[in-house]
Amino acid sequence: MPPPFTLLIDPLPADAAPADFSSTFTEVDASAPALRVGELSTQRGDGIFETLGVVDGHAQEVGPHLARLKHSAEICELPIPNLAQWGAAISFAIENLPKSGEFSIKLVLSRGVEAGPAPTAWLHATVAPSYGHVREAGVRVVTLDRGYARGTAEHAPWLLLGAKTLSYAVNMAALREATRRGADDTIFVTSDGYVMEGPTSSVIIRHGDAFATPAPSGAILHGTTQQSLFEHLRGEGHVADYRDISVAELRAVDAAWLVSSVRLAVAVTELDSRAMKTDASTTAAFNRFLMLPRG
Ligand code: PLP
Repeated sequence: MPPPFTLLIDPLPADAAPADFSSTFTEVDASAPALRVGELSTQRGDGIFETLGVVDGHAQEVGPHLARLKHSAEICELPIPNLAQWGAAISFAIENLPKSGEFSIKLVLSRGVEAGPAPTAWLHATVAPSYGHVREAGVRVVTLDRGYARGTAEHAPWLLLGAKTLSYAVNMAALREATRRGADDTIFVTSDGYVMEGPTSSVIIRHGDAFATPAPSGAILHGTTQQSLFEHLRGEGHVADYRDISVAELRAVDAAWLVSSVRLAVAVTELDSRAMKTDASTTAAFNRFLMLPRG
């Protein structure tokens, strides 16, 4: 079963504990139609997802990804996923992926078909894009106003901020806007001037020996890559804090990175057309660590 391959998953209640989950996965042809026309994930983006990196046969940070899937399900009022079943689906995929190279595994849980009996779920495994060059060269970034002030997630929970929903059209539009402005990526900022996250990544900054990232206050995702790096940095004796970071502060840092599960760590080399300080040795050290088996 070489990648890409897809498993349709029959989602079990959160507490079901069968001896073997494999009868709840069905391999489908990734290039053939597999979803029904009434699927709410495709019609409304009404569902949630996770993307895990796989390096040399190891799925990275499975626990934090599954915890975030559950958190997203709670925010979106979807049935709570059976994490043992998702874990078994990931293990099944890993058994079928080559033991060397980089891959990505996407997990999707959709509300299902309108008035249908159950949610729809699937796992899709693919070869990861080749990110070697961008990990060395970094990315030029523009800041874009996300349109929300700090605190919006708390008083407007229906916006589903903080859930990794399938509604990524805005995130993709932000990347197109970055391209229009001659850049490669985006950092979303609040309407009152604070750093949030990239459309598909978390932001980490360094001042001297101290690292920081915006607090996952409910408006942004709690990145699994950022969490993994912070645990590692703290283990090495560095300060690694969650706190508010203004755009003015971001412009003056000693280094900034966008980090995510499959692309890993990329340096921000330019911000809004102005050169940023970079730190090639820390970038390389981050990526060496992120390529090790984690979680
Ligand atoms: N923020 C957003 C909006 C994302 O889409 C992602 C990943 O896709 C991240 C942050 C980084 O999360 P992770 O490190 O778990 O991949």
